[in-house]
Amino acid sequence: MTDQFGREISYLRLSVTDLCNLRCAYCMPAEGVAKKRHAEILSVEEIGELVSAAAALGVRKVRLTGGEPLVRRGIVDICKAVAQTQGIIETCMTTNAVLLPDFAAQLRGAGVSRLNISLDTLNPERYCALTRGGDLASALRGIDAAREYGFAPIKINAVLIDGFNTDEIRELASLSRLADTHVRFIELMPIGDSADFSGGKYVSDGAVLRAMPELEPRGSDGVARLYGFPGASGTVGLISPISSHFCPSCNRVRITSDGQLKPCLHSADEISLRGLHGAALLDAMRAGFFGKPRRHALDTGKISAAARNMNAIGG
Ligand code: SAM
Ligand code: SF4
Repeated sequence: MTDQFGREISYLRLSVTDLCNLRCAYCMPAEGVAKKRHAEILSVEEIGELVSAAAALGVRKVRLTGGEPLVRRGIVDICKAVAQTQGIIETCMTTNAVLLPDFAAQLRGAGVSRLNISLDTLNPERYCALTRGGDLASALRGIDAAREYGFAPIKINAVLIDGFNTDEIRELASLSRLADTHVRFIELMPIGDSADFSGGKYVSDGAVLRAMPELEPRGSDGVARLYGFPGASGTVGLISPISSHFCPSCNRVRITSDGQLKPCLHSADEISLRGLHGAALLDAMRAGFFGKPRRHALDTGKISAAARNMNAIGG
């Protein structure tokens, strides 16, 4: 269906947990998050019902996210339920890759077609510091496992952080020279309890083009402006929620792991879908889709109005 501004809503980002095996400084508080009671989190059956309703309203693509989706108990069953929902033509996942050696084959079998992998640095000490204890080698093994089990193309997402990884822009972008690999640089968004960390570390994506003037324009996919190294088939994308937001072409809505529909990432507005079924669920969802705001108000120097940390939204 279209929203009040004529945008076709076809993409659902579904968070399956707030929990994570890492603690990235821009996403989560250092102490982690309190585990929600089992009853607070959507069950596999509820997820199936929500995705069916979203599909009935025109959603065609679902991305499973979190927190870290692979720490959610029953994640493979969730993937299967989503992928088998009538109307859903693409089921994908965003992950930090650490658990992919255990899960890549099962995800493939469950119908997940594509993986986006978050990786902000190729330096082990920096990785450990930013993720507060993570092991870069584990994430790289996860990326290898994704390739081994046929996930292609793979997208690597890197958040640009001033004074942290701007000297690695070329090295990260060069991953796009590998077969079936695309790299996306994402602007850092000050949000939730981590807004203090992010304040002052924002880097406009123009830094990427200045670091690699040889990049050739390769069009746009609606969200990212695409470039590529001469001769490389992989692309380097710039996702600029702050410097050039893509709200006019935004086709996405979010559902949190506790069943709140969020029509816009950077708004505090949430619509509870919990306990709704049938026509009541469809009506609530339709109202949320329709009322999606024209644009978010996260401009340079501002803090997101979202009333949650990123791990509790799904990015
Ligand atoms: N754990 C998974 C992962 O890291 O890929 C999925 C959830 S994570 C919240 C989804 C995406 O949000 C990641 O690519 C992460 O880098 C991004 N993210 C989290 N906090 C962010 C922030 N403050 N600004 C920009 N991107 C952020
Ligand atoms: Fe976990 Fe992903 Fe947030 Fe990092 S960005 S703390 S991996 S949810």
